[in-house]
Amino acid sequence: MTRPNIVFVMSDDHAAHSISAYGSRVNTTPHMDRLAREGARMDAVYCTNSICTPSRASILTGTYSHINRAPSIYSEFDYRVRTFPEVLQERGYQTALYGKWHLGHTEVSRPRGFDDWRIYPGQGDYIDPVMSGPEGEETFEGYATDIVTRQSLDFLERRDPERPFCLLVHHKAPHRPWIPHPRYEGMYEAGTIPEPETMWDEHTMRAQVVREVAMQLDDLRPTDYKDELPAELEGDAEEARRARSAWKYQRYMRDYLRCVQAVDDSVGEILDHLDETGLAENTIVIYTSDQGFFLGDHGWFDKRLMLDESLTMPMLVRWPAQIAAGTRLSDIVSNVDFAATLLEAAGEDPGSLPDQQGRSFLRQLRGQQVPDWLQAVYYRYWEHDDPEHHAPAHYGVRTPTHKYIRYYNDGLGTPGSSDRIMPVEDELYDLVADPREMTNVAADPAYAEVLEELKALTAELQEQYGDAPYEGPDTPRLEWPTA
Ligand code: CA
Repeated sequence: MTRPNIVFVMSDDHAAHSISAYGSRVNTTPHMDRLAREGARMDAVYCTNSICTPSRASILTGTYSHINRAPSIYSEFDYRVRTFPEVLQERGYQTALYGKWHLGHTEVSRPRGFDDWRIYPGQGDYIDPVMSGPEGEETFEGYATDIVTRQSLDFLERRDPERPFCLLVHHKAPHRPWIPHPRYEGMYEAGTIPEPETMWDEHTMRAQVVREVAMQLDDLRPTDYKDELPAELEGDAEEARRARSAWKYQRYMRDYLRCVQAVDDSVGEILDHLDETGLAENTIVIYTSDQGFFLGDHGWFDKRLMLDESLTMPMLVRWPAQIAAGTRLSDIVSNVDFAATLLEAAGEDPGSLPDQQGRSFLRQLRGQQVPDWLQAVYYRYWEHDDPEHHAPAHYGVRTPTHKYIRYYNDGLGTPGSSDRIMPVEDELYDLVADPREMTNVAADPAYAEVLEELKALTAELQEQYGDAPYEGPDTPRLEWPTA
């Protein structure tokens, strides 16, 4: 069989529930929908640490954060862990990466395994971004999403037609600060965007540390919502705060959705190019995002937490030669599984990444049932004391029916005090009875048995992946190289 080409399109912070193929109530994404229609829509893909740098490190290496040692946005990629593009390049693939890297910029942490690459320093800019590449830095005029698309198409046009390619298209959109493309001026105007059902969640049953996260809509900054806040919405009264949150929601979502629209166009341009060059049949096209995002859900923006809107990654996979159009997959997979799957699709042993912790889901993509597949994902968010969002470190497990989360609150200094001692807190959600995760049943005696089962499963997966549970203030803390 001829080895397939790979086009891996990944955006930043794009939640599945703002893709119409996933039933979005707030926007339409015709080109992403085309991928879903002509390929597979994956409905249970979860990140293992919901934040930019860690997700990217897990995708590239097929490992958890404690193995690749990029558990935080403040960490730099551990160059000793091999990546799937390195393996493919060694096996004769032409490889390229354009867009957001966010894994460090030193000699050791900059991209490797790519024949060509252009990356933003850190998050990069939406307008006229600086990008660095093998030859140094350069400023590109225009809108970031268009520029990365152009660089990707240029690579496809000048490649060697005799060899397969692996192209990573890493858009920075729709990451904060949500600067939309000017051509979407007027789309999704503020005031017209439906609010999510859970926007006024009062969090009465959640862990104390979750109730304190600074990811409330009212925590959005002027640079996030851009319009001038009307004077009548200022003040501390509950009524003003509520009206202000609704007002900020409309403006941040307007710009977020406009950013998404340009990413959707990029997918369309790439699909058109593959059609025009006759490459579509044996090219795997993936659309995903590094993690999900709260789109006003539970009254929040941002990610980090293990609740589904943040945990879930969109994933659409088209490969006409091997995947039936209209495939729907509900097996639980994670971003740690991507590298194994792509290596197997390319005819390589997933074990060619020596630290590999992922499981290839290629059989499922091809329509096979895999009865012994473990339907569970282990999750761990490592940042103990993020100074801006006050998101607590936590770990847990999600199965098709339940979710267990432990906030171990070690060294948690939020808000204000760096030496506050907090007890461990648990949450448990019954995802069948309560799919919106509104009711924490960890203390409900009716769920005592389920709680014990999920704690045991968490411990089992920690053992399997070589992660250490929290066992009190003396538990050794993970150290990592800083960028
Ligand atoms: Ca991200």
